Amino acid sequence: MKILVINSGSSSIKYQVLDMESESVLASGLVERIGEPVGNLVTKFHPDTDQENKVTREQRIADHKQGMLAAISLLTDSEVGVIEDASEIGAVGHRVVHGGEDFHEPTVITPEVLEAITANIPLAPLHNPANLDGITVAMDIFADVKQVAVFDTAFHQTMPERAYMYALPYAYYAEDRIRRYGFHGTSHKFIAAETAKLLRKPLAECNLITVHLGNGCSMTAIENGQSVDTSLGMTPLEGLVMGTRSGDVDPAIHTFLHRNKGMDIEEIDAVLNKESGLKGLCGMNDMRDIHDAIAEGNKQAKIALDVQTYRNKKYIGAYMAVLGRVDAIVFTAGIGENDPKVRELSLQGMEVFGIQLDLEANAQRVKQPTCISSKESTIPVFVIPTNEELAIARETLQVVQG
Ligand code: ADP
Repeated sequence: MKILVINSGSSSIKYQVLDMESESVLASGLVERIGEPVGNLVTKFHPDTDQENKVTREQRIADHKQGMLAAISLLTDSEVGVIEDASEIGAVGHRVVHGGEDFHEPTVITPEVLEAITANIPLAPLHNPANLDGITVAMDIFADVKQVAVFDTAFHQTMPERAYMYALPYAYYAEDRIRRYGFHGTSHKFIAAETAKLLRKPLAECNLITVHLGNGCSMTAIENGQSVDTSLGMTPLEGLVMGTRSGDVDPAIHTFLHRNKGMDIEEIDAVLNKESGLKGLCGMNDMRDIHDAIAEGNKQAKIALDVQTYRNKKYIGAYMAVLGRVDAIVFTAGIGENDPKVRELSLQGMEVFGIQLDLEANAQRVKQPTCISSKESTIPVFVIPTNEELAIARETLQVVQG
């Protein structure tokens, strides 16, 4: 079966077409600047193979529907296309950011599901409306095909109350569902399944710490294959130090900024989400630039690296305490997969807990799942590339095949 995976943002649509027999990517594309005077369409056919063929088009794309139709016209193009007709798509999988407490697993989209995603908009005001745009358009274009919603939050719905409740007035939870939800669930679940394969153990018997370090960063404690704690909270702002997001801060800083600097709540929100994290500390949010700057003696860049990796270490320690037995620690995503220094610093000094890297293995650049711990390490450490599109496609296939 061929599956179309859609990740719809407010002014962009990312998509992939996968052939699920071989799990190969037939095409991978991005429609961006939707609604602007000139939009941009980039499609890679047979990406990362000898036959890779990149096609770029600039044209006005009025809305998400036009964007999707433009993408389909490329996918079905008689010269470069990879499908003859839109009807070749057997199912559509949608990334949906917030499923609130309603969704514990991927779900076939029905009018009730659409209502529930809409009801969760207050929890993800930027993401859920954009995801809904993508779903509405795909339901229109692929009317006869099952559409599946795969939620970023679903994997973490197994967290116990003690992990998901904030110590706030209980009514906030009871009335407004203010609690921790966690995100990146599709990635953590995918990585957990891949790790179980490496450990040659059923996932249901694995205790893991999965560390997703990209622009957004999160860590999950997985007990017997289920998420029991995760670092992102009610929104994707809590926890680790991210590219531009602060992660954990004293909540009284908000009051301080308001009282002493006259900032209103919108400004404070923007600073915490867009001007903090690595960028706030040193003006750069790409770890590659930060390493270059450190090499040139930039002190703030060094502080940014230290603050991020120290926070990582604190969370790893906390999740070891949560789990007791840990079968593996796994790094993934842009920084987690590519940055040996961040991995090294995040685990530095943890030999006493049975964690010891093989610095040579850690320094190697590989695209495959790799063990980077030494033979003496009682807890193996892996690097495993995440693949959220493949994860969504697998989940979609599972749902449509019942
Ligand atoms: P997103 O959260 O947007 O999916 P990614 O997982 O693609 O992000 O991660 C993007 C980040 O990964 C970049 O901002 C950069 O900091 C980091 N990154 C990518 N490649 C490297 C590399 N070779 N070395 C260090 N960091 C890298």
